[in-house]
Amino acid sequence: MNIANHHLEGADCIESPNQGGPYAPGALDTIIIHFTAGANAESAIDTLCNVEREVSAHLVVARNGTVSQLLPFNIIGWHAGHSKWGEREGFNQYSIGIEIDNAGELEERDGCYESWFGRAYPPEEVVHGVHRHQTRESHWHRYTPEQLRVVEAICAALIETYPIEHILGHEEIAPDRKVDPGPAFPLDQMRARLLNTATADAGPDKATVKAKRLNIRAEPNGQAERQAGHLLQGTEVEVLEEKDGWCRVKVELEGWVSKRYVERS
Ligand SMILES: [Zn+2]
Repeated sequence: MNIANHHLEGADCIESPNQGGPYAPGALDTIIIHFTAGANAESAIDTLCNVEREVSAHLVVARNGTVSQLLPFNIIGWHAGHSKWGEREGFNQYSIGIEIDNAGELEERDGCYESWFGRAYPPEEVVHGVHRHQTRESHWHRYTPEQLRVVEAICAALIETYPIEHILGHEEIAPDRKVDPGPAFPLDQMRARLLNTATADAGPDKATVKAKRLNIRAEPNGQAERQAGHLLQGTEVEVLEEKDGWCRVKVELEGWVSKRYVERS
């Protein structure tokens, strides 16, 4: 895929009136992934181009992989809303928004799975997974292989063209109100493939404990056996991998212990 003059070659162009101005110089460095939580790409495009709705995104990827571009990549869109990640807030000014046609979270009913707008989806269109914000398994509309392939190719083209450093889910920058793109989207794997050289240069992936006391478990779920001890707020940990909303971490510890309680080799 190629980008020329801030447009993706081959995309259908429909300009949305919902736009900010150009990004501040050097501000654009993030891609935000969304699902539409809607019935089809056309209805999503209608909403994202409706001046009264005051929302937009740069791209919409339909179930068959067709891409519509609603804003050029040098113009701020209105897809992130109230958002925060690390020290940063208000992600519209830093990011390109990609909306993927997907019904979102589904509810199980009589062996079928129903969207919030009442459409039933057969089991083969459903992914069961634990959302990174939740501890229990839930049901999610499957992305098509075409969508996953096209979104990855778009991200690769954007990384080639713009100084992109982060690919984030809407759920990560607005964790208290958003669950997209959800567990059906292989976000961790995709960004590891696309940004692997960048993260290798940055050294080990660190995180800081936010909770007052944080249990360490043997497996990535809330019922798994607790490991000895717990982490205290502010402890810095090294993140070795991420899975189902959990991080496998390594803790560097150094301090004094009574000689009576250790055996020296
Ligand atoms: Zn979203």
